[in-house]
Amino acid sequence: MRWNRFWTLGLGTLFTCTFFIQAKNTPVSEKQGKPIRTIVIDAGHGGEDPGAKGSYSTEKEVTLAVALKLGKLLEENMPDVKVVYTRKTDRYDNPRVKAQIANDAKGELFVSIHCNSAAKVARQVGTKAVVRKKGKKKITTHVPVYAYYPNPAKGTETYIWATSKNNAKMESLKQNSVIVLDADSEESRALMDDTDPTTFILLNTLRNAYFDQSLRLSTLIEDEFTRVGRISRGARQRNEKGIWVLSATAMPSVLVELGFISNPEEEDYLNSNSGQMELATGIYKAIKRYRDELDKFTNNRNQPANEASTATGAPSAYHKAGKNGKNNSKQPDYAVQLLITDKLYKPGASIFKKLPGNIERTSIVKNRKKLNKYTWGHFPSEQIASTALKKARKSGFKDALVVNK
Ligand SMILES: [Zn+2]
Repeated sequence: MRWNRFWTLGLGTLFTCTFFIQAKNTPVSEKQGKPIRTIVIDAGHGGEDPGAKGSYSTEKEVTLAVALKLGKLLEENMPDVKVVYTRKTDRYDNPRVKAQIANDAKGELFVSIHCNSAAKVARQVGTKAVVRKKGKKKITTHVPVYAYYPNPAKGTETYIWATSKNNAKMESLKQNSVIVLDADSEESRALMDDTDPTTFILLNTLRNAYFDQSLRLSTLIEDEFTRVGRISRGARQRNEKGIWVLSATAMPSVLVELGFISNPEEEDYLNSNSGQMELATGIYKAIKRYRDELDKFTNNRNQPANEASTATGAPSAYHKAGKNGKNNSKQPDYAVQLLITDKLYKPGASIFKKLPGNIERTSIVKNRKKLNKYTWGHFPSEQIASTALKKARKSGFKDALVVNK
């Protein structure tokens, strides 16, 4: 309860800051410039699973209508973003299949759309006499008579996974690590040994960044809903059935409850074209703000990264071209400089045996002395390279440092 409050109250600067700090450290934001290229939209329920029921409509119909409208807005206004739907028809899929669709699509954002429902409220409208026999006696008791009315609960809620599900999210990231870390190099894949504590640290950092990003988006969505006069019940954590998909998707993920289908007034709104359009537009605007923020901080981040390459003393003239011409692309490429020595080691030398992947030797001249510089790997982000750096230092290369190739 206190946590719910904390997150609801924390909509201000406090977590905006953590979001930005984390966003700066997120490998995903480094993937080919744009931080968001694929958005997965999940219309909740479908087919044999109608979800919550209103007096004349079902949740599965509303979620599909809003999901399709949201997708159309994204396709029209963000032509560089690929929109993937978990369903576009009245179809049922196991949540596992939905998470699989999202992970296979290598989404950078997962938005699940649902409707809320609250149980009817019982009100006593009178009493009824009930006569019972006890031996020869008749006993009359009066029992209350209830009538049931629609629950007045209304408004929107946006959920992120509960921190108690952090381990499950971590597991999803681990299973999809090749995707989420863009680990297309041999060295990055080798780092994904889950018995290795460095892998744990890396995935843990990534999960925390996704948590902050999901929280940021959930706040923006609720903010957009509030702007058009919806009642916002806040951005919250949730740990209930139906939220499984949030921790099963290896990307930032939110679940939007559009409104209460159990409330007659909201049921009408949820079924109206204008209501659905307003909801889809609110989510779209929030995604746009979220993406703009990520873009801004990705761009800011790339600036000092380039300066740092000169600062770490890795003049490009000394670099051999990487395997497969990787260095010619604009993809970030980091390596760990292991040591500079006058000794000559073969790439397979025993001092390198704990470091999987490619060891490069470069000849350099320092104070008129001919020396050999040994670097390890091609890493797609500074973060992965930092993880590799820890491994290198643990393997005895005490002066190792990360260099930008
Ligand atoms: Zn639902």
